[in-house]
Amino acid sequence: MDLSGKTAIVTGSTSGIGLGIATGFARAGANVVINGFGDPAEIDAVVKDLQGHGGTVAYNGADMSKPDEIVAMVDDVEKQFGAVGIVVNNAGIQLVEPVENFPPDRWDMIVAINMNSAFHTVRAAVPGMKKRGWGRIINIASAHGLVASPYKSAYVTAKHGIVGFTKTVALEVAQDGITSNAICPGYVLTPLVAKQIPDTAKARGITEEEVKRDVLLAAQWTKKFVTVEQLAGVALFLCSDAAENITGISLPVDGGWTAA
Ligand code: NAD
Repeated sequence: MDLSGKTAIVTGSTSGIGLGIATGFARAGANVVINGFGDPAEIDAVVKDLQGHGGTVAYNGADMSKPDEIVAMVDDVEKQFGAVGIVVNNAGIQLVEPVENFPPDRWDMIVAINMNSAFHTVRAAVPGMKKRGWGRIINIASAHGLVASPYKSAYVTAKHGIVGFTKTVALEVAQDGITSNAICPGYVLTPLVAKQIPDTAKARGITEEEVKRDVLLAAQWTKKFVTVEQLAGVALFLCSDAAENITGISLPVDGGWTAA
């Protein structure tokens, strides 16, 4: 896969799935803009590590809960690279709590980062994509964009919302050379998942080992966690010419979870 000459923004790519996708894009020769929080020295090391494949790798620290910072990021990238061809909306957070205990400010933050941020990046990036007649919008939803689990009301709501947003945008830009798709991963052992294991154990009154075996992988028929490399491969495919007529889909990469 050759993405040389293309520029990709991957939100929330200082860690986990976003970092995996950014790595895949950089290795395919794209210019890649990394985004997310973290230790500046570690982020610097990631940026340096991803250079040398033909494209330029840069970092933008926009906070995905802040619309004005999102718009400024898209503008800056357009100025620096002359275009934004690929937007991967990946930044996300999680909180596991029964609905009656769910703190309203955490609900708002999850919906802002996991769902609203995609509206703001897409709104800012689509005019340039239309002008150039090419674009790839990839929203990292979740199996939880298709089915629910208890204690994740804000997350499941945001992920179902982003599936609807993906489809709507797909229809609006279908004749402009732009596709809009969602990837719906099952469980990937990233920091986001590792962090929720103790909370789930507490909410369900079981051990952390039982959470991995009986909760996380219970619905994954392959009994394997999805890997970030597999998700990078799917994102690269969605950027390829072969995927030109694939738009508006929500592609499960979930070991059979949502087939059952
Ligand atoms: P992660 O915690 O490893 O990474 C999250 C990234 O988002 C980090 O880079 C973090 O700095 C960034 N981020 C958080 N808040 C931000 C903000 N306000 N502004 C900018 N960046 C911010 O998580 P992950 O598991 O890699 O998850 C990435 C995406 O994949 C999320 O949208 C998540 O919902 C989705 N997902 C994850 C899994 C899984 O099992 N890990 C499964 C399905 C979907």
